[in-house]
Amino acid sequence: MDNCLFCRIMKGEIPSAKVYENDYVYAFRDINPQAPVHVLVIPKKHFSSLNDTAAADDRDLAECLRAIPVIAAQEKLETGYRVVSNCGPDACQSVQHLHFHILGGAQMSEKMS
Ligand code: AMP
Repeated sequence: MDNCLFCRIMKGEIPSAKVYENDYVYAFRDINPQAPVHVLVIPKKHFSSLNDTAAADDRDLAECLRAIPVIAAQEKLETGYRVVSNCGPDACQSVQHLHFHILGGAQMSEKMS
């Protein structure tokens, strides 16, 4: 996807603060952090959101989930963290490339919305 912001970040065409990468996944710091640690985990293959993953290779999705605890450990989030994937306009998804927010580094509210 030539015009997708996160595809371009993953390819290095737009700078980002990389925290993790493997053959399937790229992770980088959110430019507008909502917590002391705020990392975005994306599959290297383009899916617009979770709604676009019915035909996805399991590996592309599983590797995102497996990367999350690795990144959490790297970021020293031993006391916990939250994972969010906004999907569609009601959830205020602003970038149409599947991504998982890892939020941590402080006590969070019990409220999630
Ligand atoms: P969402 O609103 O769930 O689609 O999340 C998109 C996230 O991407 C937001 O938290 C933005 O702050 C973040 N973001 C947008 N542009 C960039 C960028 N160039 N580098 C890092 N994060 C970005």
